Amino acid sequence: MSATTTPVPLLDLHAQYAPLRQQILDAVTRVCDSQRFIMGPEIDALEHELAALIGVQDAVAVSSGTDALLVALMALGIGPGDEVVTTTYSFFATAGAITRVGARPVLVDIDPVTYNIDPEAVAAAITPRTKAIMPVHLYGLCADMDPILRIAEARGIPVIEDAAQAIGSQYRGRPAGGMGAMGCFSFFPSKNLGAFGDAGLVTMNEPELAKRVRLLRMHGMEPKYYHHLVGGNFRCDALQAAVLRVKAPHLAAWTEARRLNAKRYAQLFAEAGLRERIVLPVQPDGQYHIYNQFVIRVPHRDELKRFLDARGIGNEIYYPVPFHLQPCFASLGHSRGDFPHAEKAADQTIAIPIYSELSIDQQRTVVQAIAECLGQPGASGTTA
Ligand SMILES: *Cc1c(COP(=O)(O)O)cnc(C)c1O
Repeated sequence: MSATTTPVPLLDLHAQYAPLRQQILDAVTRVCDSQRFIMGPEIDALEHELAALIGVQDAVAVSSGTDALLVALMALGIGPGDEVVTTTYSFFATAGAITRVGARPVLVDIDPVTYNIDPEAVAAAITPRTKAIMPVHLYGLCADMDPILRIAEARGIPVIEDAAQAIGSQYRGRPAGGMGAMGCFSFFPSKNLGAFGDAGLVTMNEPELAKRVRLLRMHGMEPKYYHHLVGGNFRCDALQAAVLRVKAPHLAAWTEARRLNAKRYAQLFAEAGLRERIVLPVQPDGQYHIYNQFVIRVPHRDELKRFLDARGIGNEIYYPVPFHLQPCFASLGHSRGDFPHAEKAADQTIAIPIYSELSIDQQRTVVQAIAECLGQPGASGTTA
């Protein structure tokens, strides 16, 4: 029963690095030779290039996606006594940032088809204390922004997009990170545009907000040693900016390759007769999914995970525990059953490899392994 399978990694950063190696080393050398590591021309150029690439007026490079969320909340003056409505189903930083500025994350359930925040649940969660709405464009698919923006506009509440997984994603002709007051991006290495370490970006179309984020990024300081706001050190390293500038021009092609892989999975799962047994990611009309993750839903997820692990097929669960069931958010007073769609997604979904350089043979290997597991309960030594 133990057919030997060639392992398939969830992500292969070497494959992306190899053809760019010399250009990246040249860019890093340029920064080393300049000995300018903090701010400077690499940061200025990166901000201009990424604002154009994303389709926004301005972009501020910061230290991480987490810090992008934090500084965006700070720029809006959100703090103790305030509420921010967000999804219960995302990477921790979304709710973590809200909590860190002293505000209360008001969690709501997801749409079970897209896994993104449910706009009706957002409307129901608004109170007089709501100071922002923070949708997440999970896995690279934009949240259903039109109804969310309508709710926000009607009440004069800003929207902060957590676009950490969604660079290049589009919703009805508008870019992720360009629909709300601000967009927050991450260049964590596993994101579609990854740095060689931590980095992030805040985008906006409002010059005053850009000014405020830039001020907060450097301890609210302008000029040197005169502090107008209590900010932080949220700067992006020049070395990271230099690496990102080499990679950014390739992003569109990398995204297209991910989208082709997604299409191929749909074909391969259909050929394997699995379309009835696996729920694949959706791309609603008018949307452009960038597939930072390719997340499928299966009834016996944990069994599939054990099977894929045994075969060396990369996989991950994003995310096993929604925010409302995390120990650190116990004080929010939630319990199991509060957000059933998110809980079910946390129990039934699993990400499989989708990175740009993934070959069709590797995809066949992944699909074959899933077919074997679903066809044979208890295979690979696990008990059903
Ligand atoms: C990656 C990610 C973040 C945080 O980004 P870092 O750069 O790792 O700090 C925030 N939100 C979401 C949805 C993410 O996927």
